Amino acid sequence: MKKILIANRGEIASRIIHTCKRLGIETIAIYSEADEDMPFVKEADSAFLIGPPPVQQSYLKGEEILKIALREGADGIHPGYGLLSENVDFASQVSEAGLKFIGPDALTISEMGDKVGSRSTMKAASVPVVPGTDDGVDSLEEAMRVAKTIGYPIMLKASAGGGGVGMVRCESEQALSQQFDSVKNRAKMYFGNDLVFIEKYITNARHIEVQIFGDDAGNIVHLFERNCSVQRRNQKVIEESPSPNLSDETKSRLYQAAVDAAKAVNYKNAGTVEFIVDENDEIYFLEMNTRLQVEHPVTEEVTGYDLVEWQIEVARGNELPVKNQDDIQLNGHALEFRVYAEDPKTFMPSPGTITKLNLQSELDGIRIDNGYAENGKVTPFYDPLISKVIVHGKTRDEAIEKSKAYFSEIEIEGLKTNIPLFTEVLNVNSFKAGTYTTAILNDWSKK
Ligand code: ADP
Ligand code: ADP
Ligand code: MG
Repeated sequence: MKKILIANRGEIASRIIHTCKRLGIETIAIYSEADEDMPFVKEADSAFLIGPPPVQQSYLKGEEILKIALREGADGIHPGYGLLSENVDFASQVSEAGLKFIGPDALTISEMGDKVGSRSTMKAASVPVVPGTDDGVDSLEEAMRVAKTIGYPIMLKASAGGGGVGMVRCESEQALSQQFDSVKNRAKMYFGNDLVFIEKYITNARHIEVQIFGDDAGNIVHLFERNCSVQRRNQKVIEESPSPNLSDETKSRLYQAAVDAAKAVNYKNAGTVEFIVDENDEIYFLEMNTRLQVEHPVTEEVTGYDLVEWQIEVARGNELPVKNQDDIQLNGHALEFRVYAEDPKTFMPSPGTITKLNLQSELDGIRIDNGYAENGKVTPFYDPLISKVIVHGKTRDEAIEKSKAYFSEIEIEGLKTNIPLFTEVLNVNSFKAGTYTTAILNDWSKK
Protein backbone atom coordinates (compact mmCIF):
# COMPACT_ATOMS: atom_id res chain seq x y z
CA MET A 1 0.00 0.00 0.00
CA LYS A 2 1.42 3.33 -1.08
CA LYS A 3 -1.49 5.75 -0.78
CA ILE A 4 -4.29 5.64 1.78
CA LEU A 5 -7.48 7.66 1.91
CA ILE A 6 -8.67 8.36 5.44
CA ALA A 7 -12.45 8.34 5.62
CA ASN A 8 -12.69 10.13 8.94
CA ARG A 9 -11.95 13.40 10.71
CA GLY A 10 -10.50 14.93 13.86
CA GLU A 11 -7.98 13.28 16.14
CA ILE A 12 -8.27 9.82 14.59
CA ALA A 13 -7.61 11.13 11.08
CA SER A 14 -4.51 12.95 12.37
CA ARG A 15 -3.41 9.86 14.29
CA ILE A 16 -3.65 7.63 11.18
CA ILE A 17 -1.80 10.21 9.06
CA HIS A 18 1.10 10.21 11.57
CA THR A 19 1.63 6.47 11.21
CA CYS A 20 1.31 6.63 7.42
CA LYS A 21 3.98 9.35 7.31
CA ARG A 22 6.33 7.24 9.41
CA LEU A 23 5.76 4.30 7.05
CA GLY A 24 6.29 6.45 3.93
CA ILE A 25 2.67 6.05 2.80
CA GLU A 26 0.95 8.99 1.07
CA THR A 27 -2.33 10.17 2.62
CA ILE A 28 -5.55 11.63 1.27
CA ALA A 29 -7.99 13.41 3.58
CA ILE A 30 -11.63 14.12 2.90
CA TYR A 31 -13.42 16.84 4.82
CA SER A 32 -16.73 18.64 5.19
CA GLU A 33 -17.31 22.38 4.98
CA ALA A 34 -17.23 22.53 8.79
CA ASP A 35 -13.73 21.03 8.95
CA GLU A 36 -11.76 23.09 6.40
CA ASP A 37 -9.40 24.47 9.04
CA MET A 38 -8.84 21.26 11.01
CA PRO A 39 -5.24 20.03 11.41
CA PHE A 40 -5.90 16.70 9.66
CA VAL A 41 -6.79 18.53 6.42
CA LYS A 42 -3.39 20.27 6.40
CA GLU A 43 -1.44 17.22 7.58
CA ALA A 44 -2.57 14.95 4.74
CA ASP A 45 -0.63 15.06 1.46
CA SER A 46 -3.86 16.02 -0.31
CA ALA A 47 -7.37 16.84 0.88
CA PHE A 48 -10.76 17.03 -0.82
CA LEU A 49 -13.98 18.72 0.21
CA ILE A 50 -16.87 16.26 0.08
CA GLY A 51 -19.85 18.29 1.19
CA PRO A 52 -21.80 20.24 3.80
CA PRO A 53 -21.36 19.59 7.54
CA PRO A 54 -24.06 16.95 8.25
CA VAL A 55 -22.48 13.48 8.09
CA GLN A 56 -25.16 12.18 5.70
CA GLN A 57 -23.98 14.80 3.21
CA SER A 58 -20.26 14.32 3.82
CA TYR A 59 -18.48 11.65 5.89
CA LEU A 60 -21.16 9.01 5.27
CA LYS A 61 -21.18 9.43 1.48
CA GLY A 62 -19.41 6.15 0.84
CA GLU A 63 -19.76 6.16 -2.94
CA GLU A 64 -18.39 9.72 -3.25
CA ILE A 65 -15.50 8.85 -0.98
CA LEU A 66 -14.68 5.72 -2.97
CA LYS A 67 -14.78 7.74 -6.21
CA ILE A 68 -12.21 10.17 -4.82
CA ALA A 69 -10.01 7.28 -3.68
CA LEU A 70 -10.11 5.71 -7.16
CA ARG A 71 -9.58 8.99 -8.97
CA GLU A 72 -6.60 9.90 -6.77
CA GLY A 73 -4.97 6.50 -7.07
CA ALA A 74 -5.35 5.35 -3.48
CA ASP A 75 -4.86 1.64 -2.87
CA GLY A 76 -6.42 1.52 0.59
CA ILE A 77 -9.07 3.23 2.73
CA HIS A 78 -8.80 3.57 6.49
CA PRO A 79 -12.25 4.18 8.02
CA GLY A 80 -11.11 5.07 11.58
CA TYR A 81 -13.90 4.55 14.14
CA GLY A 82 -17.60 5.50 13.98
CA LEU A 83 -18.86 6.84 10.61
CA LEU A 84 -18.32 4.19 7.88
CA SER A 85 -16.02 1.93 9.90
CA GLU A 86 -18.66 -0.75 10.52
CA ASN A 87 -20.66 -0.22 7.35
CA VAL A 88 -20.95 -3.55 5.53
CA ASP A 89 -21.91 -2.02 2.16
CA PHE A 90 -19.00 0.39 2.22
CA ALA A 91 -16.49 -2.30 3.17
CA SER A 92 -17.66 -4.54 0.33
CA GLN A 93 -17.78 -1.71 -2.24
CA VAL A 94 -14.20 -0.77 -1.38
CA SER A 95 -12.98 -4.35 -1.86
CA GLU A 96 -15.03 -4.84 -5.02
CA ALA A 97 -13.38 -1.72 -6.45
CA GLY A 98 -10.02 -3.42 -5.89
CA LEU A 99 -8.93 -1.32 -2.92
CA LYS A 100 -8.04 -2.56 0.55
CA PHE A 101 -10.55 -1.76 3.26
CA ILE A 102 -8.32 -1.47 6.35
CA GLY A 103 -10.39 -3.59 8.68
CA PRO A 104 -12.01 -7.02 8.72
CA ASP A 105 -13.95 -8.51 5.78
CA ALA A 106 -17.44 -7.20 5.07
CA LEU A 107 -18.76 -10.64 6.04
CA THR A 108 -17.19 -10.44 9.49
CA ILE A 109 -18.54 -6.93 9.99
CA SER A 110 -22.02 -8.18 9.16
CA GLU A 111 -21.66 -11.22 11.46
CA MET A 112 -20.48 -9.15 14.42
CA GLY A 113 -21.99 -5.75 13.60
CA ASP A 114 -25.41 -6.30 15.09
CA LYS A 115 -25.65 -7.28 18.71
CA VAL A 116 -28.39 -9.89 18.34
CA GLY A 117 -26.52 -11.77 15.61
CA SER A 118 -23.17 -11.60 17.40
CA ARG A 119 -24.71 -12.93 20.61
CA SER A 120 -25.82 -16.11 18.88
CA THR A 121 -22.50 -16.50 17.07
CA MET A 122 -20.74 -16.21 20.43
CA LYS A 123 -23.09 -18.62 22.16
CA ALA A 124 -22.39 -21.16 19.44
CA ALA A 125 -18.66 -20.69 20.10
CA SER A 126 -19.23 -21.27 23.85
CA VAL A 127 -18.37 -17.68 24.77
CA PRO A 128 -20.55 -16.65 27.75
CA VAL A 129 -22.97 -13.85 26.80
CA VAL A 130 -25.06 -11.51 29.01
CA PRO A 131 -28.28 -13.41 29.84
CA GLY A 132 -30.99 -12.17 27.50
CA THR A 133 -33.06 -12.84 24.43
CA ASP A 134 -31.72 -14.85 21.48
CA ASP A 135 -33.70 -12.80 18.99
CA GLY A 136 -35.22 -9.36 18.77
CA VAL A 137 -38.42 -8.66 20.70
CA ASP A 138 -41.20 -7.43 18.45
CA SER A 139 -43.90 -6.26 20.81
CA LEU A 140 -44.23 -4.79 24.27
CA GLU A 141 -46.15 -7.91 25.38
CA GLU A 142 -43.28 -10.15 24.34
CA ALA A 143 -40.78 -7.78 25.99
CA MET A 144 -42.72 -7.89 29.27
CA ARG A 145 -42.94 -11.68 29.15
CA VAL A 146 -39.20 -12.21 28.65
CA ALA A 147 -38.24 -9.45 31.10
CA LYS A 148 -40.24 -11.27 33.77
CA THR A 149 -38.30 -14.49 33.24
CA ILE A 150 -34.94 -12.68 33.08
CA GLY A 151 -35.78 -10.54 36.12
CA TYR A 152 -35.52 -6.75 36.53
CA PRO A 153 -33.53 -4.58 36.12
CA ILE A 154 -33.12 -5.21 32.42
CA MET A 155 -31.43 -3.35 29.58
CA LEU A 156 -33.53 -2.69 26.50
CA LYS A 157 -31.15 -2.32 23.58
CA ALA A 158 -31.02 -1.52 19.89
CA SER A 159 -29.30 -4.37 18.07
CA ALA A 160 -27.59 -1.90 15.73
CA GLY A 161 -26.75 0.62 18.47
CA GLY A 162 -23.35 2.11 19.22
CA GLY A 163 -21.60 4.95 21.02
CA GLY A 164 -23.84 4.40 24.06
CA VAL A 165 -26.91 5.41 22.04
CA GLY A 166 -30.02 3.24 21.85
CA MET A 167 -30.18 1.55 25.24
CA VAL A 168 -32.24 2.12 28.36
CA ARG A 169 -32.11 0.45 31.76
CA CYS A 170 -35.58 -0.52 32.98
CA GLU A 171 -36.18 -1.18 36.67
CA SER A 172 -39.75 -2.38 36.35
CA GLU A 173 -42.53 -3.47 34.03
CA GLN A 174 -43.86 0.06 34.16
CA ALA A 175 -40.54 1.54 33.03
CA LEU A 176 -40.30 -1.01 30.24
CA SER A 177 -43.76 -0.16 28.94
CA GLN A 178 -42.89 3.53 29.01
CA GLN A 179 -39.61 3.05 27.16
CA PHE A 180 -40.36 0.34 24.61
CA ASP A 181 -41.68 2.44 21.73
CA SER A 182 -39.18 5.21 22.22
CA VAL A 183 -36.15 2.88 22.16
CA LYS A 184 -37.53 1.21 19.03
CA ASN A 185 -38.13 4.57 17.36
CA ARG A 186 -34.73 5.89 18.28
CA ALA A 187 -33.13 2.72 16.95
CA LYS A 188 -34.88 3.29 13.64
CA MET A 189 -33.98 6.96 13.57
CA TYR A 190 -30.29 6.66 14.53
CA PHE A 191 -29.34 3.29 13.09
CA GLY A 192 -31.96 2.66 10.40
CA ASN A 193 -32.95 -0.59 12.10
CA ASP A 194 -35.60 -0.91 14.80
CA LEU A 195 -34.59 -4.36 16.04
CA VAL A 196 -34.42 -4.27 19.85
CA PHE A 197 -33.63 -7.00 22.38
CA ILE A 198 -33.39 -7.48 26.13
CA GLU A 199 -30.45 -8.24 28.40
CA LYS A 200 -30.27 -8.70 32.12
CA TYR A 201 -28.86 -5.49 33.62
CA ILE A 202 -25.66 -6.45 35.40
CA THR A 203 -25.20 -4.28 38.50
CA ASN A 204 -21.81 -3.46 40.05
CA ALA A 205 -20.29 -4.18 36.67
CA ARG A 206 -16.95 -3.38 35.14
CA HIS A 207 -16.50 -2.87 31.42
CA ILE A 208 -13.44 -4.88 30.45
CA GLU A 209 -12.51 -5.35 26.82
CA VAL A 210 -9.80 -7.33 25.08
CA GLN A 211 -7.88 -6.08 22.06
CA ILE A 212 -7.44 -8.81 19.51
CA PHE A 213 -5.71 -8.97 16.14
CA GLY A 214 -5.86 -11.49 13.31
CA ASP A 215 -4.27 -11.93 9.88
CA ASP A 216 -4.99 -13.72 6.59
CA ALA A 217 -2.82 -16.67 7.63
CA GLY A 218 -5.16 -17.39 10.55
CA ASN A 219 -2.89 -16.11 13.33
CA ILE A 220 -4.86 -14.57 16.19
CA VAL A 221 -3.39 -12.86 19.24
CA HIS A 222 -4.72 -10.68 22.03
CA LEU A 223 -3.04 -7.53 23.35
CA PHE A 224 -4.39 -7.70 26.87
CA GLU A 225 -7.35 -5.83 28.32
CA ARG A 226 -8.60 -2.30 28.89
CA ASN A 227 -10.84 -1.28 31.76
CA CYS A 228 -13.33 1.28 30.41
CA SER A 229 -15.70 1.51 33.37
CA VAL A 230 -15.56 5.29 33.79
CA GLN A 231 -18.59 6.08 31.66
CA ARG A 232 -21.32 8.64 31.32
CA ARG A 233 -24.41 7.94 29.19
CA ASN A 234 -23.01 4.39 28.69
CA GLN A 235 -20.03 5.89 26.90
CA LYS A 236 -16.42 5.81 27.99
CA VAL A 237 -14.46 8.83 29.27
CA ILE A 238 -11.40 7.33 30.98
CA GLU A 239 -9.80 4.01 30.06
CA GLU A 240 -6.81 2.12 31.37
CA SER A 241 -4.59 -0.87 30.74
CA PRO A 242 -3.93 -3.19 32.44
CA SER A 243 -7.12 -3.34 34.51
CA PRO A 244 -6.71 -2.94 38.27
CA ASN A 245 -8.66 -5.20 40.61
CA LEU A 246 -8.84 -8.18 38.27
CA SER A 247 -7.24 -11.51 39.10
CA ASP A 248 -4.85 -13.23 36.71
CA GLU A 249 -7.32 -16.09 36.56
CA THR A 250 -10.16 -13.80 35.42
CA LYS A 251 -7.84 -12.13 32.93
CA SER A 252 -6.95 -15.51 31.44
CA ARG A 253 -10.63 -16.35 31.02
CA LEU A 254 -11.21 -13.02 29.30
CA TYR A 255 -8.27 -13.48 26.90
CA GLN A 256 -9.37 -17.02 26.08
CA ALA A 257 -12.98 -15.97 25.45
CA ALA A 258 -11.82 -13.08 23.25
CA VAL A 259 -9.51 -15.29 21.19
CA ASP A 260 -12.29 -17.92 20.89
CA ALA A 261 -14.66 -15.18 19.72
CA ALA A 262 -12.18 -14.01 17.09
CA LYS A 263 -11.46 -17.57 15.93
CA ALA A 264 -15.17 -18.30 15.59
CA VAL A 265 -15.42 -15.68 12.83
CA ASN A 266 -11.90 -16.09 11.34
CA TYR A 267 -11.20 -12.60 12.45
CA LYS A 268 -8.72 -10.50 10.47
CA ASN A 269 -7.29 -7.11 11.43
CA ALA A 270 -7.96 -5.15 14.66
CA GLY A 271 -10.99 -5.91 16.78
CA THR A 272 -12.21 -5.49 20.32
CA VAL A 273 -14.26 -7.96 22.28
CA GLU A 274 -16.18 -6.15 25.00
CA PHE A 275 -17.20 -7.88 28.22
CA ILE A 276 -19.05 -7.06 31.39
CA VAL A 277 -17.43 -8.49 34.52
CA ASP A 278 -19.71 -8.74 37.53
CA GLU A 279 -18.90 -8.56 41.24
CA ASN A 280 -18.28 -12.33 41.35
CA ASP A 281 -15.85 -12.09 38.43
CA GLU A 282 -18.31 -13.80 36.07
CA ILE A 283 -17.61 -12.62 32.54
CA TYR A 284 -20.23 -11.89 29.89
CA PHE A 285 -19.72 -11.03 26.22
CA LEU A 286 -21.31 -7.66 25.44
CA GLU A 287 -20.42 -6.95 21.83
CA MET A 288 -17.57 -6.94 19.37
CA ASN A 289 -16.33 -3.77 17.70
CA THR A 290 -14.91 -4.64 14.30
CA ARG A 291 -12.63 -1.63 14.02
CA LEU A 292 -9.92 0.38 15.70
CA GLN A 293 -11.25 1.55 19.06
CA VAL A 294 -11.12 5.13 20.38
CA GLU A 295 -9.05 3.95 23.36
CA HIS A 296 -6.53 1.84 21.40
CA PRO A 297 -3.65 4.15 22.49
CA VAL A 298 -3.59 2.76 26.05
CA THR A 299 -2.84 -0.64 24.55
CA GLU A 300 -0.15 0.89 22.34
CA GLU A 301 1.50 2.54 25.34
CA VAL A 302 1.70 -0.64 27.42
CA THR A 303 2.67 -3.01 24.59
CA GLY A 304 4.88 -0.66 22.58
CA TYR A 305 3.20 -1.52 19.25
CA ASP A 306 1.55 0.81 16.75
CA LEU A 307 -1.84 -0.75 16.07
CA VAL A 308 -2.46 1.34 12.95
CA GLU A 309 0.81 -0.03 11.55
CA TRP A 310 -0.40 -3.54 12.40
CA GLN A 311 -3.69 -2.81 10.63
CA ILE A 312 -1.88 -1.69 7.50
CA GLU A 313 0.48 -4.71 7.58
CA VAL A 314 -2.44 -7.12 7.85
CA ALA A 315 -4.41 -5.29 5.12
CA ARG A 316 -1.36 -5.70 2.88
CA GLY A 317 -1.74 -9.45 3.32
CA ASN A 318 1.29 -9.77 5.59
CA GLU A 319 1.31 -11.80 8.78
CA LEU A 320 0.96 -10.15 12.18
CA PRO A 321 4.16 -8.31 13.18
CA VAL A 322 4.18 -10.51 16.32
CA LYS A 323 2.54 -13.91 15.91
CA ASN A 324 3.66 -15.58 19.09
CA GLN A 325 1.40 -14.64 22.01
CA ASP A 326 4.19 -14.96 24.58
CA ASP A 327 6.27 -12.36 22.76
CA ILE A 328 3.64 -9.70 23.50
CA GLN A 329 4.53 -8.20 26.86
CA LEU A 330 3.07 -5.52 29.11
CA ASN A 331 5.16 -2.60 30.23
CA GLY A 332 3.85 -0.33 32.99
CA HIS A 333 0.42 1.25 33.11
CA ALA A 334 -1.48 3.63 30.84
CA LEU A 335 -4.52 5.85 31.40
CA GLU A 336 -6.46 7.62 28.64
CA PHE A 337 -8.62 10.70 29.17
CA ARG A 338 -11.07 11.72 26.46
CA VAL A 339 -11.13 15.52 26.47
CA TYR A 340 -14.61 16.48 25.29
CA ALA A 341 -16.16 19.89 24.70
CA GLU A 342 -18.88 19.21 27.24
CA ASP A 343 -20.17 20.38 30.58
CA PRO A 344 -18.25 18.47 33.30
CA LYS A 345 -21.36 18.12 35.46
CA THR A 346 -24.25 17.53 33.07
CA PHE A 347 -22.16 15.91 30.30
CA MET A 348 -24.04 17.90 27.69
CA PRO A 349 -22.03 18.85 24.57
CA SER A 350 -20.70 22.39 24.66
CA PRO A 351 -19.66 23.42 21.15
CA GLY A 352 -17.72 26.64 20.59
CA THR A 353 -14.39 28.11 19.57
CA ILE A 354 -11.19 26.98 21.27
CA THR A 355 -9.62 30.40 21.87
CA LYS A 356 -6.60 28.98 23.67
CA LEU A 357 -5.16 25.48 23.41
CA ASN A 358 -2.03 24.62 25.30
CA LEU A 359 -1.76 20.86 25.77
CA GLN A 360 2.02 20.47 25.71
CA SER A 361 3.87 19.48 28.86
CA GLU A 362 7.41 18.90 30.06
CA LEU A 363 6.30 15.73 31.81
CA ASP A 364 7.56 12.51 30.23
CA GLY A 365 5.28 9.65 29.23
CA ILE A 366 2.44 11.90 28.05
CA ARG A 367 0.98 11.31 24.60
CA ILE A 368 -1.52 13.74 23.10
CA ASP A 369 -3.74 12.57 20.24
CA ASN A 370 -5.16 15.93 19.34
CA GLY A 371 -7.71 16.87 16.71
CA TYR A 372 -7.90 20.66 16.94
CA ALA A 373 -5.77 23.78 16.56
CA GLU A 374 -6.07 27.03 18.49
CA ASN A 375 -9.09 29.01 17.23
CA GLY A 376 -10.61 25.77 15.94
CA LYS A 377 -14.37 25.39 16.22
CA VAL A 378 -16.06 22.42 17.85
CA THR A 379 -19.32 22.22 15.92
CA PRO A 380 -22.54 20.44 16.89
CA PHE A 381 -22.31 18.20 13.83
CA TYR A 382 -19.91 15.63 15.24
CA ASP A 383 -18.76 13.93 18.41
CA PRO A 384 -17.32 16.78 20.56
CA LEU A 385 -14.04 14.93 21.24
CA ILE A 386 -11.18 17.45 21.17
CA SER A 387 -8.18 15.35 22.18
CA LYS A 388 -7.14 12.22 23.96
CA VAL A 389 -4.47 12.41 26.62
CA ILE A 390 -2.63 9.17 27.28
CA VAL A 391 -0.45 8.99 30.38
CA HIS A 392 2.07 6.21 30.87
CA GLY A 393 3.73 5.35 34.17
CA LYS A 394 5.82 2.50 35.53
CA THR A 395 2.95 1.83 37.94
CA ARG A 396 -0.72 2.80 38.10
CA ASP A 397 -0.06 5.14 41.02
CA GLU A 398 2.68 6.89 39.09
CA ALA A 399 0.36 7.32 36.09
CA ILE A 400 -2.35 8.76 38.35
CA GLU A 401 0.02 11.27 39.98
CA LYS A 402 1.39 12.31 36.61
CA SER A 403 -2.15 12.79 35.27
CA LYS A 404 -3.00 15.11 38.16
CA ALA A 405 0.12 17.16 37.49
CA TYR A 406 -0.63 17.28 33.77
CA PHE A 407 -4.22 18.48 34.09
CA SER A 408 -3.20 21.21 36.51
CA GLU A 409 -0.73 22.56 33.90
CA ILE A 410 -2.62 22.67 30.63
CA GLU A 411 -5.02 25.28 29.31
CA ILE A 412 -8.04 25.11 27.06
CA GLU A 413 -10.14 28.25 26.86
CA GLY A 414 -13.22 29.49 25.02
CA LEU A 415 -15.51 26.55 25.72
CA LYS A 416 -16.39 24.14 28.48
CA THR A 417 -14.41 20.89 28.68
CA ASN A 418 -14.63 17.87 30.95
CA ILE A 419 -11.11 18.40 32.35
CA PRO A 420 -12.53 19.35 35.80
CA LEU A 421 -14.18 15.92 35.82
CA PHE A 422 -10.80 14.18 35.42
CA THR A 423 -9.32 16.10 38.31
CA GLU A 424 -12.22 15.00 40.51
CA VAL A 425 -12.25 11.37 39.39
CA LEU A 426 -8.50 11.08 40.03
CA ASN A 427 -9.30 11.81 43.68
CA VAL A 428 -12.26 9.47 44.08
CA ASN A 429 -11.42 6.61 46.45
CA SER A 430 -12.80 3.81 44.28
CA PHE A 431 -10.82 5.13 41.33
CA LYS A 432 -7.61 5.37 43.33
CA ALA A 433 -8.17 1.86 44.66
CA GLY A 434 -9.08 0.54 41.21
CA THR A 435 -12.33 -0.97 42.50
CA TYR A 436 -14.68 1.39 40.65
CA THR A 437 -17.59 0.14 38.55
CA THR A 438 -19.58 1.60 35.65
CA ALA A 439 -21.67 3.39 38.29
CA ILE A 440 -18.78 5.69 39.26
CA LEU A 441 -20.29 8.74 37.53
CA ASN A 442 -23.91 8.04 38.46
CA ASP A 443 -25.51 11.05 40.15
CA TRP A 444 -22.43 13.11 39.30
CA SER A 445 -24.45 16.17 38.33
CA LYS A 446 -26.09 16.17 41.77
CA LYS A 447 -22.76 16.45 43.58
P1 ADP B 1 -15.32 2.96 21.35
O1 ADP B 1 -16.45 1.98 21.16
O2 ADP B 1 -14.29 2.95 20.29
O3 ADP B 1 -14.76 2.94 22.70
P2 ADP B 1 -17.36 4.99 21.33
O4 ADP B 1 -18.36 4.05 21.86
O5 ADP B 1 -17.17 6.29 22.00
O6 ADP B 1 -15.93 4.38 21.26
O7 ADP B 1 -17.68 5.20 19.79
C1 ADP B 1 -16.72 5.75 18.92
C2 ADP B 1 -17.32 6.76 17.98
O8 ADP B 1 -18.14 6.12 17.04
C3 ADP B 1 -18.18 7.79 18.63
O9 ADP B 1 -18.04 8.95 17.84
C4 ADP B 1 -19.57 7.21 18.50
O10 ADP B 1 -20.54 8.21 18.51
C5 ADP B 1 -19.47 6.52 17.17
N1 ADP B 1 -20.23 5.27 17.04
C6 ADP B 1 -19.93 4.09 17.59
N2 ADP B 1 -20.77 3.14 17.18
C7 ADP B 1 -21.63 3.74 16.33
C8 ADP B 1 -22.74 3.28 15.57
N3 ADP B 1 -23.15 2.03 15.56
N4 ADP B 1 -23.39 4.19 14.80
C9 ADP B 1 -22.98 5.47 14.79
N5 ADP B 1 -21.95 5.95 15.47
C10 ADP B 1 -21.28 5.10 16.23
P1 ADP C 1 -22.39 0.37 22.58
O1 ADP C 1 -22.52 -0.36 21.29
O2 ADP C 1 -23.19 1.61 22.62
O3 ADP C 1 -20.97 0.53 22.99
P2 ADP C 1 -22.59 -1.71 24.62
O4 ADP C 1 -23.47 -2.88 24.51
O5 ADP C 1 -21.14 -1.93 24.40
O6 ADP C 1 -23.11 -0.58 23.63
O7 ADP C 1 -22.80 -1.05 26.04
C1 ADP C 1 -22.25 0.19 26.41
C2 ADP C 1 -22.16 0.29 27.92
O8 ADP C 1 -23.44 0.19 28.53
C3 ADP C 1 -21.37 -0.83 28.58
O9 ADP C 1 -19.99 -0.54 28.59
C4 ADP C 1 -21.96 -0.89 29.97
O10 ADP C 1 -21.42 0.08 30.83
C5 ADP C 1 -23.40 -0.56 29.73
N1 ADP C 1 -24.18 -1.80 29.54
C6 ADP C 1 -24.56 -2.33 28.36
N2 ADP C 1 -25.26 -3.47 28.55
C7 ADP C 1 -25.32 -3.68 29.88
C8 ADP C 1 -25.91 -4.68 30.71
N3 ADP C 1 -26.60 -5.70 30.19
N4 ADP C 1 -25.75 -4.56 32.06
C9 ADP C 1 -25.06 -3.54 32.59
N5 ADP C 1 -24.50 -2.56 31.86
C10 ADP C 1 -24.62 -2.61 30.52
MG1 MG D 1 -19.67 -1.02 23.33
